Amino acid sequence: EETVEDEAPKKGIIDRLVGRDTSPRRVLDDEMVEQLEELLISADMGVDTALRVTSNMAEGRIGKKLSVDEIKSLLAEEVARIMEPVARPLPLYAKKPQVVLVVGVNGAGKTTTIGKLASQFRAAGKSVVIAAGDTFRAAAVEQLQIWGERAGVPVLTAPEGSDPASLAFDAMTKAQEDGADLLMIDTAGRLQNRQDLMEELAKIVRVIRKKDPDAPHNTLLVLDATTGQNAVNQVDAFQKLADVSGLVMTKLDGTAKGGVLVALADKFGLPIHAIGVGEQIDDLAPFDPEDYANALVG
Ligand code: GDP
Repeated sequence: EETVEDEAPKKGIIDRLVGRDTSPRRVLDDEMVEQLEELLISADMGVDTALRVTSNMAEGRIGKKLSVDEIKSLLAEEVARIMEPVARPLPLYAKKPQVVLVVGVNGAGKTTTIGKLASQFRAAGKSVVIAAGDTFRAAAVEQLQIWGERAGVPVLTAPEGSDPASLAFDAMTKAQEDGADLLMIDTAGRLQNRQDLMEELAKIVRVIRKKDPDAPHNTLLVLDATTGQNAVNQVDAFQKLADVSGLVMTKLDGTAKGGVLVALADKFGLPIHAIGVGEQIDDLAPFDPEDYANALVG
């Protein structure tokens, strides 16, 4: 049976809960709490986090009559409460160059995010150097060069297959000589070969510390929202490989519901520095917990 709702599908959680029931107020009972929980899980929030969010939201309210808008805003408040402490832009230190190591699996959006960040820092009057540290993927190096041109930022490369640590060392030298504010180092994302990747990342860190014992000042993990709950495993894995200091979640412009961000905030508490909302250079936005929470439950 076709209905108006079928013609104009809504992706918000609450809209799906409400369905065809148009009564203005409904009793918050255990069944509804369970339904909400299932909807949050289907939005990639993960079981533990969904449970906590719904039980906090329902606390002291079981048996009460609530309007749809009240249910929405109560749920959004719970989500925003978890997200507020992690919504923090990439910190800028006075130290020159500030070194940002960028890690993540291939395809997550590292190259794109580096390009977008470089453009933002340039617009803020900062000088930036990029090192194309994924020396094993010629395509990745080419992509980064294109992004560098777009952002007006030099991209240091090395011959295919050469040692990324040696490139990182050269890039560090150049960034210091140029007095650059920021050095962003791209890295390989071959998570299927963890031992190699761990050694490679450790070596990059070791050599740049010869130039600055505090480097890297940030280790940014780039995650793809469309991988859903898999992002949780990626944080787990990369925390074992590197000293991850913050996250960027890409591809939140697509159909991904992005609830995994709540699970990540809840489980790891790592700062979310920015979100990717498209493929263009300006499609990197600060993470806004309230907007995010409202969009998620909408
Ligand atoms: P890398 O392998 O981690 O360097 O990933 P890339 O930066 O090459 O990105 C992989 C693909 O994802 C490319 O086609 C990008 O255009 C796309 N991409 C990256 N970030 C976003 C985003 O925020 N939104 C959308 N829609 N696509 C993105």
